[in-house]
Amino acid sequence: MFGSPGSGKGTQAKLLSQCISGPHISTGDMLRGHIAEHDEIGIAAQELLKAGKLVPDDMVNALVKQRVVDADCDAGMILDGYPRTVNQARVLLELLASIGFRGIVLHLVVDYEKIVARLSGRRQCPFCGTLYSLTTSPPKVAGICDKDGTPLVTREDDRESVIRERLREYDLQTVPILNFFKEAGVPLFEIDAGSAQPDQVSRKICEELVAAGIELKVSGSQEIRA
Ligand code: AMP
Repeated sequence: MFGSPGSGKGTQAKLLSQCISGPHISTGDMLRGHIAEHDEIGIAAQELLKAGKLVPDDMVNALVKQRVVDADCDAGMILDGYPRTVNQARVLLELLASIGFRGIVLHLVVDYEKIVARLSGRRQCPFCGTLYSLTTSPPKVAGICDKDGTPLVTREDDRESVIRERLREYDLQTVPILNFFKEAGVPLFEIDAGSAQPDQVSRKICEELVAAGIELKVSGSQEIRA
């Protein structure tokens, strides 16, 4: 599952794991788990994550290889945050072929101007952490936390220049991977994730999956097929 920062990818991956049989696997979460454990992988990955740099391909490839043979992946899995390089994509396709799975790429597409408007309109209370949105959930008094009266701030990573840089990085990283999958003949679905509520986006994703011949869990599939 691919989606730029602010596209709602994490939310959609979680919603999707309720309607297809198979876990939501996030390599970012796996790495953070190793860091929390202070194990060998965690120690090697820690500084790279802090700096926002990718960890070596061999490290994530090995993590994914070990994970996809777990019993809960027997019917498939949702990969989130992987692959991040063309090399990882190549390794993934070989891995899927070796365990008899086929891949489907879901790309959540949101207009970048909408993402910039949404994220740069966020304000946070530096004291209690409450988040406000200037468009959908503004504070009662402009610029002031409802709960404790503290002046609100814009988080560093919600500044417009930072958001635009993250989106640029995402394009640089992702376009070659999507092209690689297209050339390899992997079905690719572009889902408009910018103009609907999360549950409607999730429904669209499930409909695409059913159309691609993926079996959904009973509760989800009954609704989609009806
Ligand atoms: P995420 O939670 O997906 O944003 O990932 C957090 C961080 O984990 C990234 O900034 C990278 O440092 C690292 N990471 C996660 N997935 C990968 C991957 N597939 N390849 C390399 N580094 C990754």
